[in-house]
Amino acid sequence: MPKFSAASRARLETCDIRLQSLFNEVIRHFDCTVLEGHRGQDAQDNAYASGKSQVKWPDGKHNRMPSKAADVAPYPIDWNDIRRFYYFAGFVLGVAARMQIPIRWGGDWDRDTRVNDQNFNDLVHFEVAE
Ligand SMILES: [Zn+2]
Repeated sequence: MPKFSAASRARLETCDIRLQSLFNEVIRHFDCTVLEGHRGQDAQDNAYASGKSQVKWPDGKHNRMPSKAADVAPYPIDWNDIRRFYYFAGFVLGVAARMQIPIRWGGDWDRDTRVNDQNFNDLVHFEVAE
């Protein structure tokens, strides 16, 4: 059974308890790595400047404490294998639905199950939908 590295676990622990529950279940079936949980001001400024995020501090879901968003990628990471990110997200969303945790994914911001109507893709981004 796959399990999180210490670094992934530490990042996940900065997240909303529902995200922790979700990804602690996901990792039992699908190996993945937590890239980012909470993002402080410097990290958010960098993310915004590099185009990784479209919102400024402190408006991002990653800027809350605990973080309302987690960036998680299938492991091992191959940024060129886009299909695997979709496969992974479908798995995460299915597990979340089963656990009754409302999740908004960066590959389907409007949650209409369509993936070709997006202006901005963030395929590793999963946030608690309130
Ligand atoms: Zn994110």
